[in-house]
Amino acid sequence: MKKVYLEEANQLPVYDECDILIVGGGCAGHSAALAAARAGAKNIILMERYGYMGGDVTGGYVIMVPKLSWYDKVFVRGIMEEWFTRLDRIPNATLGPRLDQVGNTDPALVHQWKAIHGCVSESQPQRLVRAVYFEPNQLKIEMDKMLLEERDRIRVLYHCWGTKPIMDGSRVKGVIFESKEGRQAIFAKQVIDATGDGDIFRQTGTPYRALADSNTRSSTTALVWRIGGINWDLYNDWTRRYPEASMALYNAIGKIAGFRCAPLPTSRNDICWINNWHADRDCANIADITETEIETRNTIREVLDYLREACPIGFRNAYLYDIAPQLGSRCSYRLQGEHIMTPRDFAFAPQFDDVIAWHSTICMINDCGPIEIPYRSILPQKVENLLCPGRHISADDVAIDWLTLIPQCVGTGQAAGVAAAVAVADGTTARDVNIRKVQDILVEQNVPLPRHSGTDPSYTECCEAHEYGLYTDLAKKARAEADGLKEYRQW
Ligand SMILES: Cc1cc2nc3c(=O)[nH]c(=O)nc-3n(C[C@H](O)[C@H](O)[C@H](O)COP(=O)(O)OP(=O)(O)OC[C@H]3O[C@@H](n4cnc5c(N)ncnc54)[C@H](O)[C@@H]3O)c2cc1C
Repeated sequence: MKKVYLEEANQLPVYDECDILIVGGGCAGHSAALAAARAGAKNIILMERYGYMGGDVTGGYVIMVPKLSWYDKVFVRGIMEEWFTRLDRIPNATLGPRLDQVGNTDPALVHQWKAIHGCVSESQPQRLVRAVYFEPNQLKIEMDKMLLEERDRIRVLYHCWGTKPIMDGSRVKGVIFESKEGRQAIFAKQVIDATGDGDIFRQTGTPYRALADSNTRSSTTALVWRIGGINWDLYNDWTRRYPEASMALYNAIGKIAGFRCAPLPTSRNDICWINNWHADRDCANIADITETEIETRNTIREVLDYLREACPIGFRNAYLYDIAPQLGSRCSYRLQGEHIMTPRDFAFAPQFDDVIAWHSTICMINDCGPIEIPYRSILPQKVENLLCPGRHISADDVAIDWLTLIPQCVGTGQAAGVAAAVAVADGTTARDVNIRKVQDILVEQNVPLPRHSGTDPSYTECCEAHEYGLYTDLAKKARAEADGLKEYRQW
């Protein structure tokens, strides 16, 4: 049996009290705080263990948002799109087809964007997709600016680590946290766990699941690093002209590193990022995450030397630009909430009365068509006044791979913030919140929702006209091959 230490009961200072406490300032938590403030909540605390917002997207250098559009409609907007309208003003901070180019099938444009992964649809005729690469440090600055605009309503606590929920029966009424000032408590009417690993909900008694099975993208960790001094256009052209050599290069760097790695474009032609996948690792396990950090750094020089030598056309002058300040966390624990998302939600396009977002999907079984995410997928069972948006959303082992992408995390975060604000204003619980009111506010916040009178009906018409992507050749092929769904899990 593992040795235990019995901690003495002690008194904790109460640091603060608020209406809405958000633990975790990743893209989900950041969106939740902003959306709550914009929905009228006045007393919000956003707590983050590091010294900046964004989590994976800024600190983990995950710098690409895929598939915000389908055909000619941009189904994911709201705070997600706001990042890019704000960053577009800064030179080299974004790269991707413009909003007014979405759906364009002009062969010249399609050819131009094909070099940048994810910017052109796979289905025929090929068209431009709203997919955006962004500069993570510029986003870090912008995320602070967005919060500063709401400084009267949102108090940001950096370098504070939420450790334990404060419970009153089944009701969450605050969180204990650790910081340089010691262990303290914050009381709140509504708590949002946006830690990505369920740090708070795991201690409330609500059902949750551990890591997805080891075939999935979710059960891999990463430490992203970037290479400068490259020429992406030349490298990409080389990969298209010599696919076999390019595959050999890709396999070779995986062998050198000891885990799968891939160079991917950034918003600048002279910099790429190296995404990587350490198989069968849990981003909430101390040994796994320590190994991920050490093994990645330990192999960077060899991978770089090899790239310079094997592909001088792109990497002749390559150098180590930087290493992400934080681990790339894909998945560890996830909620088993009031609705558990499964492949059925992708394969049958169900309609949910409590829909809070259209999903930007990379799931081929419905040809990347947008599906509906219900409020109940961020609502825990058996616990009151707690919401759980972001990459620990309620899903099964397969669907989780399609749900942890940035747009889903931002979208569910935005919805959680609005729902918490409505619950506080109406004096109700998160469970009994007036979902119509939540949906109305989301639409006001530029989130298109199906069947809502404030959303342009052409969105739903687009889904209906293309039968929710279920009957295209690509989707039929994907479903036919989907035994185990492995091929479509690798992102
Ligand atoms: C290497 C990699 C590549 C990926 N590629 C893509 C891609 O190309 N496109 C895409 O859309 N998605 C991609 N993803 C997925 C996507 O980046 C994440 O799922 C998403 O950003 C998660 O957002 P989140 O806010 O839910 O969680 P996180 O980003 O993990 O945010 C959680 C935040 O909470 C903080 N925190 C955690 N615990 C505590 C605590 N106890 N107290 C206080 N603060 C805490 C963390 O520091 C962090 O800031 C990738 C992920 C990885 C790792």
